[in-house]
Amino acid sequence: MIQLPEKVRRIINTIMEAGYEAYAVGGCIRDSILGREPDDWDITTSATPGQVKELFSHTIDTGIQHGTVTVMLEREGFEVTTYRIDGKYEDGRHPKEVTFTPSLLEDLKRRDFTINAMAYNDEAGLVDVFGGEDDIKRKVIRCVGEPKERFGEDALRMMRAVRFSGQLGYEIEVNTSKAIRELNHNLIQVSAERIQMELVKLAMSPHPENLRLAYETGITQVILPEFDVCMKTEQKNPHHCYTVGEHILKSMEEIKPEKMLRLAMLFHDIGKPKTLTLDEKGVHHFHGHPAVSAKMARGILKRLKFDNQTIYFVTNLVKYHDYNIKPEPMYVRRAIMKIGEDIFPLLFEVKAADLRAQSTYMRREKEEKLKNVYEVYQQIISERQCVSIKDLAVTGKDLMEEAGMQAGPELGKMLNRLLDFVVEDPSRNEREILLKAVKEFK
Ligand code: ATP
Ligand code: MG
Repeated sequence: MIQLPEKVRRIINTIMEAGYEAYAVGGCIRDSILGREPDDWDITTSATPGQVKELFSHTIDTGIQHGTVTVMLEREGFEVTTYRIDGKYEDGRHPKEVTFTPSLLEDLKRRDFTINAMAYNDEAGLVDVFGGEDDIKRKVIRCVGEPKERFGEDALRMMRAVRFSGQLGYEIEVNTSKAIRELNHNLIQVSAERIQMELVKLAMSPHPENLRLAYETGITQVILPEFDVCMKTEQKNPHHCYTVGEHILKSMEEIKPEKMLRLAMLFHDIGKPKTLTLDEKGVHHFHGHPAVSAKMARGILKRLKFDNQTIYFVTNLVKYHDYNIKPEPMYVRRAIMKIGEDIFPLLFEVKAADLRAQSTYMRREKEEKLKNVYEVYQQIISERQCVSIKDLAVTGKDLMEEAGMQAGPELGKMLNRLLDFVVEDPSRNEREILLKAVKEFK
């Protein structure tokens, strides 16, 4: 059964001893029933924020206008929120107005899904008014109350439904998914930041392919229409056995759950439909699609307000995912130099996942080649061979002091020229040799 951590029990008991109600609630109860370690324990109470603050020596006003106080116990924080009824949600993380209520039932009613609307304390045991435990058994995501009403209050819940389905491997209950089909357009009002957060959680989940449910219920049509085009684009060539969209879903399943990698797979072929041409035999070709996909990925990531680091990693992985590298040291060094030392190791994961999601046509040969490139790469790294300007045996300062060069663009050009020179043959990476080469190159 549910085991409250000692500190959570202490907080609940302190509140109850003062004459109020208190329960652990929401995700932590769901995860406990599932036998998973909850990320955090949320507490819900009939006490007002002011009353909670009086009971504990150290509290922080986290979201006091929404009823949330963080209780600190030995440097660990626990969110304690007063029972509330939510008004209509505005475009933010919280409802526009909340009303406190003395009723636990009212507080549970405002929660999104039955599996997230259970409460527990040691005295009352599990409070499960909406059949959350049954829905966990049946593996379904079901709205608390009337789905259309609930999605009408907060459109983000539609994405949360798909996200939880991906995290838990559950289906979305029929009426709940029907309501999403009817109300998906409301997602236009939701902020990019909130959509981004849910999309990342779904992409990182054990079932990223459940993005298909977002497509089937019309969610992607609103937040990621480029993906809908992929779902409708066939690939009639020997390399593929799925539509572009299905291949994308499969490739996400095939890669580790890391943010940059999962997002790279989501976008790696996003521009393919734009590059489709047919030859006289009716075979589909997609010339230049990685560059088009990278450009589109950048636009989408910006639209969804992703940070610059994510945009940098994902667009570069997309851009180079199909880059052809010969498994020979000089070519691999050149590729690292061009693609970047930070991107390069991730590129193997992307390429391997892409292959696993393609048809079996020539797969063994392609995988063999990739393995060979990887071995050469490892050799280069273990020998610390020069692949970037910072690895050169001379610095810009050396060129100014020893070769009479001036600071400025010429200096940068020269360093790049030396890098090319060394990448061709690592034994050239010696100070004397390079200073001599500078004189010749000038
Ligand atoms: P996780 O933290 O693993 O993402 P969670 O269920 O804890 O999952 P949170 O976003 O932390 O989700 O929210 C905590 C609880 O608050 C939920 O379990 C749910 O009861 C309620 N909740 C959160 N967001 C909403 C929402 N948009 N609409 C209704 N209830 C919500
Ligand atoms: Mg949570």
